[in-house]
Amino acid sequence: MHELAVTQEIVRAVEEEMVKLPARTRLVKVNLLLGQLTGYVPASIEFCYGALTESGPLEGSRLEIDYRLGRVRCKKCDGEFTLDGPYFICPACGGRDLTVLNGKELLITGLEVEEPEEGA
Ligand SMILES: [Zn+2]
Repeated sequence: MHELAVTQEIVRAVEEEMVKLPARTRLVKVNLLLGQLTGYVPASIEFCYGALTESGPLEGSRLEIDYRLGRVRCKKCDGEFTLDGPYFICPACGGRDLTVLNGKELLITGLEVEEPEEGA
């Protein structure tokens, strides 16, 4: 299960950001951009995130995944395609020399936090 390792990385990166914010800032949501060609299953990452944040500084936060399909260009026929399966083959000509345009993203794109109330 590769998702566990990558989710641990995400949690660590978010925790590093959180310590820069005022004390008692509560994390509400993490936005993650995830490309299909990373091979990670969004539901598995969500599951791991839930398990890893059951307690600790990120407790109660949600992970929202923006899933991006694989977009490639074939070097043989110069066509552009969205891959809808795990096969790295041009659907038009069967070429295997494809340039990835997008789909390899794995990026935290935003954190939604609740600042502590004044004087609380
Ligand atoms: Zn092609």
